Amino acid sequence: LRGPGGARAMPFGPDSLTRVIAVTSGKGGVGKSTLTANLAVALAASGLRVGIVDADVYGFSIPGILGLTEGGVAQKPTRVGEMILPPVGYGVKVISIGMFVDDNAAVAWRGPMLHRTIQQFLTDVYFGDLDILLLDLPPGTGDVAISVGQLLPHAEVLVVTTPQPAAADVAERSGVVARQTGQRIVGVIENMAGLPQPDGSVLDVFGSGGGAEVARRLSVGQAPDAAVELLASIPLSVGLRTGGDTGVPIVLSDPADPAAAAILAIAAKL
Ligand code: ADP
Repeated sequence: LRGPGGARAMPFGPDSLTRVIAVTSGKGGVGKSTLTANLAVALAASGLRVGIVDADVYGFSIPGILGLTEGGVAQKPTRVGEMILPPVGYGVKVISIGMFVDDNAAVAWRGPMLHRTIQQFLTDVYFGDLDILLLDLPPGTGDVAISVGQLLPHAEVLVVTTPQPAAADVAERSGVVARQTGQRIVGVIENMAGLPQPDGSVLDVFGSGGGAEVARRLSVGQAPDAAVELLASIPLSVGLRTGGDTGVPIVLSDPADPAAAAILAIAAKL
């Protein structure tokens, strides 16, 4: 990624006006990428200048969710001299590890290489002026979360969990690591909550209460104004999934879907 120009200043450092929000989860498959992409589209639709850095090495799925793939392969960024111009999906500028590996090859990188890659994404990619930059991090408390803490100490963190109590344990840990690296926790999003049934009842496929529990535990010992809020509980939604599969975000195609409405409400709260 690095051109011959050497090190450049970090455009998203402490003096930047861009709000940086890292989206994290304790484990994979909880909907972190789906929510990051839909939140970004919702924020862009509200008139903000939005970018995403997809640093989820194990599951770089943002390009697909934002319609930036062809035959399953992510669109490549344009290069102008040393500058890398990010592809734009639904008004969101996106850079993804998936754009730099051939044909969706698996990425098995060690920490130092990941750190360098994220650093280069942040410095070498020309996002222009952004109001908000979302980072899609790999699940867990690993190297990337720590790198982000070092590279972007002013980043805020959104924690995604499912309603399952066991998922809450690992989600809490990812929030704790973020806080140890000095990042403020914006809130918790519970995803894959109850599935509405035709008779009006709700089926709690993945249990219930995980999101509130993570928010409660992350608030223990914090000053009242630093208490962590459960921002929303997003129901299971066939439309949210198919929107991701087809690259047409549901927040635009069907904003009345309960999952889409919940995501739009989070975007309005951020
Ligand atoms: P992660 O980034 O946490 O690994 P993904 O965003 O890739 O998770 O989501 C995993 C799968 O679950 C995807 O197929 C996605 O479409 C689906 N999914 C996410 N949230 C929901 C939801 N609320 N209802 C139904 N399917 C969902």
